[in-house]
Amino acid sequence: MNLALLLARTARWGGARPAVLLGDELLLDYAGLARRAATLARAIPQRHGLRPGDRVGFFMSNHPAVLELLFGCWWAGLVVVPINPKLHPREAQFILAHSGALLAFATDDVGAALVADAPPLPGLRELVFVDSPAYAALLQAEPVPEPVPRGPDDLAWLFYTSGTTGRPKGVMITHRNLLTMTLCYFSDVDAAQPEDATLYAAPMSHGAGLYALPHVKVGARHIVPPSRGFDPAEILALAKRQGPLHLFAAPTMVRRLVDEAAARGETGEGIKTIVYGGGPMYVEDIQRALKVMGPRFVQIYGQGESPMTITALSRRDLMDAEHPRYLARIGSVGLAQTAVQLRVADAEGRPLPPAAPGADGPPGEILVRGDSVMAGYWHDAEATAKTLRDGWLFTGDIGSLDADGFLTLRDRSKDLIISGGANIYPREVEEALLRHPAVAEVSVVGRPHPEWGEEVVAFVVAQPGMTVDAASLDALCQANIARFKRPRHYRWLNALPKNHYGKVLKTALREQLAAEATAPPAQGDGGAAKLARSSDDPSS
Ligand code: AMP
Repeated sequence: MNLALLLARTARWGGARPAVLLGDELLLDYAGLARRAATLARAIPQRHGLRPGDRVGFFMSNHPAVLELLFGCWWAGLVVVPINPKLHPREAQFILAHSGALLAFATDDVGAALVADAPPLPGLRELVFVDSPAYAALLQAEPVPEPVPRGPDDLAWLFYTSGTTGRPKGVMITHRNLLTMTLCYFSDVDAAQPEDATLYAAPMSHGAGLYALPHVKVGARHIVPPSRGFDPAEILALAKRQGPLHLFAAPTMVRRLVDEAAARGETGEGIKTIVYGGGPMYVEDIQRALKVMGPRFVQIYGQGESPMTITALSRRDLMDAEHPRYLARIGSVGLAQTAVQLRVADAEGRPLPPAAPGADGPPGEILVRGDSVMAGYWHDAEATAKTLRDGWLFTGDIGSLDADGFLTLRDRSKDLIISGGANIYPREVEEALLRHPAVAEVSVVGRPHPEWGEEVVAFVVAQPGMTVDAASLDALCQANIARFKRPRHYRWLNALPKNHYGKVLKTALREQLAAEATAPPAQGDGGAAKLARSSDDPSS
């Protein structure tokens, strides 16, 4: 079924319902949104000679036009290629060229650089700016009455992975995949209602934009914030006027929102649901968030290859503080979503033994099977064969399942540190260090060591106006984790390097360490702190 049918249907029963807002300003009702999508579905193929299955690039910061274009392209059977607007024009060029996009839409802020900085693309027929007369002209066409038929395996969304692990690959997401995500949203994440509003505070080119689907289905409002991005004060103010509000936020955004609410003595009135995910949320942070803002949180774990749909940690589980495994549960990513089968496996994909009651099972790679899983990587049979094996998606994430089915992420497999033959999961060390009140952020990586294979190095960002020293962090680790997992070196940073989605770039941290290793010895070790390797090494 064509995803655009969700909009066509809502427009039929709820045409007068408010659909698209810029802040508090109503721009379109559902009849208007559907008409514009149906009009674009005529004009885009007609003016630019596109046929169903052709790709259309979106290089746009958050903008109300994203919604009509998304549904307009689907209405015409076209495949959307979303590009993060924060990418460098050359990275955007790579995606446009690799996907073979024939047409692209851009907002003025980011599109101008694409034209100025990069050579013209051979395949691209036109780059249309959504605030230009050329775009307005597209909206003069005769609407196409019904979305063109699409099969479940037809592509809808060609999403280039965020690239924390090398060169981006085009993840082929089908209509079936996104319909499954939509159904799982209702069953496992949040019972969205017609009175709700969804706020696009995170990039619409990513999961936040895909969450338009369940909200279109129920006829909820879609609000693009006037800041076009994440502004905690703006969100708290909009929620009071426009709630019940839903938003998707990465863990770093949640932390900033909670800080803002706490500073104002507010609890986030008007916010119904904050879905967080996309990176690790530490136990300390979610506990504080729940304390300040109450039962407004749901966690999801997904990846581009199974968008927004692997596990969910429900509002109820996050609030069930009396449960004997409460701390383990809120440190987990929850239970498999309804349409997903999960397995924790060894390198050959064989399931690991189940956990004993009340304990976590052995860690292994997380495998996923179900209708949310991508069709493969665009024009990359080798990467597809590596990632999709025997019907399972090999996520590259390491996790363990407890006897109740809660999945705890340890790390991405390449982040695992092996020191003296023992596996060290950075996340566990990071959780320990974050208990220190002066630590704001931390990231732990391994670095090659001639004797031990690898040794643990922690990059630490102190809370503003506070200082922290290696000795007190070491004492904290000694009190909380096995001795062999303690960082041997500390590096102090003002901020952790992050990608456009707020994910910490461990690769950049490893590169920094590699550069230090080849550089001539610095006077005084450049602010680094070193702790002596002692007899507590696992192999000694
Ligand atoms: P992407 O494909 O760019 O969306 O990145 C997906 C990756 O982000 C996953 O494979 C995980 O490593 C990480 N991730 C996603 N959700 C979570 C979560 N809730 N907790 C921890 N890590 C997550």
